[in-house]
This record gives sequence, structure tokens and C-alpha cells, in this order.
Amino acid sequence: MKAHKPLVIGNWKLNPATLGKARKLFTEIRDRYGRRKSAINAVVAPPFPFISEIERLSPSRRIELAAQDVFFESTGAYTGEVSLPMLKSVGVSYVMVGHSERRARGETDEDVYRDVQVVLKNKTQVVICVGEKARDDHGNYFGVVEAQLRAALRDVKKTWLPNVIIAYEPIWAIGTGNTATPEDAREMKLFIAKILTDRFGRKEAKKVRIIYGGSVKKGNAAALLETGEVDGFLVGGASLRPADFVSILNTAVEYVKNSQAT
Ligand code: PEP
Repeated sequence: MKAHKPLVIGNWKLNPATLGKARKLFTEIRDRYGRRKSAINAVVAPPFPFISEIERLSPSRRIELAAQDVFFESTGAYTGEVSLPMLKSVGVSYVMVGHSERRARGETDEDVYRDVQVVLKNKTQVVICVGEKARDDHGNYFGVVEAQLRAALRDVKKTWLPNVIIAYEPIWAIGTGNTATPEDAREMKLFIAKILTDRFGRKEAKKVRIIYGGSVKKGNAAALLETGEVDGFLVGGASLRPADFVSILNTAVEYVKNSQAT
């Protein structure tokens, strides 16, 4: 049986265009997903201005909320930034940090480190995104992921690990339709688990969920869970299509059911 509850996060990025459309997108996801399931953590990450309203539309928190980013200071003269206490006060339970689309716009390993610290010190779940731009024949991409991971985890205490999630998101797979194979996802998951074990010890490292992101669709989700052995998904494009997103959520629910039966 799986050690962790699968976690599936829908990253809406800079979508949809209006509050009205965000309401519609969320209610469709919520209504299709239905009432009964708690076998997985189902999460959406809307843009900041929509979070409060989406929270209001999901009072039972069957679908939880994530933020796509955070600023490391909690208050002060920082025009345009959004803090962790603000996010918590509107119902956010997970915060993504270091998404490749933010790194591409200048976010550094040091920024990611500071964000990780503020989220974990405030007892909130952090989703640390790591992943290489491209693969090469020499396995240098392992080094890229290792460096991102070690920088993000600097000063992280063992007792914080239950709130740590690593999202392996190879950049070449994000929004391209080129999903990593389940075997590639599994290999990287094992590599990440090894780094966590080196850093924190085996027992503690097992508390961290390692999820996969990069063109996850209803057609490849089952194999990524079964053969890839990942603990869930970060889903971009497909999370904007309610039927597709709920089908990925249901695949994870089924996966839990089947693994409990065996
Ligand atoms: C993402 O936004 O993190 C992502 C994985 O996007 P997509 O599913 O569209 O590849």
C-alpha cells in the first residue's frame, strides 16, 4: 500500500481572465468531483485575486487551496507582494515555490530558500518545484535537480518534513505534451528520495511526498502513479478543463482504492 495520500494540485497559472470565469471553473470541478472522496488531497491553485471567492465556494474544503507563490516578508513596504499570513487568512493550505515559470522570470535558488523558510516556519505545506530544462546523455540533469533541492532545503528542520512536498517538473515536459515516461519519473523520484535520505535520514525522508508535473493528462495519470510511483501530480493545462482535471483526481482515488484492496 502507498505510504502517502496522493496529492493532486491544479495550477491555474494566469487563468481564467475574470472572477466570473474562475467561479464557473471551480464550481464545475467541485460538482463533478462530488462529495464522497477523502482518499486523496485534491487542491486548486487559483491566481491571488480569486482565492477568497473560491474558498467561499468550497466550505467543506473537499477541494483545498494552494497559492502559486509567496513573498518571504510578512509585512512592510513591499508594493505588489503577497505574504504568507495573508494567504493563510484566506484559507490557503499549500504554497508552491520555485515554479519554473517564476525561475524563468528571475527567481533564484536564494529566493526559493527564503520562501521555503517562511512557509514552513508558519506551519504551512510547501510545494518545492524542481526540474531540469533539458535532458542530456550524461545525466547532468540529476545534478541540476540536486542543486535546486539542496538549496531549497538548507536549514529545513526534520520536524518540518511532514509539510514538505517536492514537485519534480522537468521543464521540457511543462505545457509541451511531452510527458516524462513513468520510468523516467520513477528514476527521478528515487533520486530525490536518496537526496532526502542523505540529508535527513531514511525514516524522516519518507515523510516527504514527491509528486510529478509536466503534461499530466487523464490518459497518463494511472501509469505515472502505478509504474512511476509518484505521490501525486502538479497539473497545469488539464486543470483548466473540469472533465479532464476531475478524471485525473478520480484516477488517483481509484489508485488508492486498488492499492488498499491488494
Ligand atoms: C505546471 O504548470 O506546473 C504544469 C505541469 O503544466 P502542464 O500540466 O500544462 O504541463
